[in-house]
Amino acid sequence: MSEQVEKAEQAAQAEQTEQVAVQPPELDGYECLACGYVYDPDKGDESRQVAPGTAFPELSITWRCPVCGAKKAAFKNIGSVKKVSGFRENLGYGFGVNTMTPSQKNLLIFGAMGIAVLFFLSLYGLK
Ligand SMILES: [Zn+2]
Repeated sequence: MSEQVEKAEQAAQAEQTEQVAVQPPELDGYECLACGYVYDPDKGDESRQVAPGTAFPELSITWRCPVCGAKKAAFKNIGSVKKVSGFRENLGYGFGVNTMTPSQKNLLIFGAMGIAVLFFLSLYGLK
């Protein structure tokens, strides 16, 4: 194995552990099965004085859905609401973009934009 590949793998591993640290599993989003409201632990719930960073299981047993008033039991864990777009069950669909990290997505989006700009610039060269 070449030294370069080894370094790249180490960097990838470091990135993975970093992501785990940033998004502990208990800070999962929870969706209200009655109305579709999603409790985002990073935001908390302003209407009921729930501080940002409060995990769903830590919410008071008397906490209700701020939209429809459903009990905590009516909520379903939908996984992280931050790291990937869409819900966990959707991750297998599409072109694999859903499982990409935000930085990878940025690279894809801005890479594609850069290519598009170069393409339009090349049209001026035709005149
Ligand atoms: Zn609800």
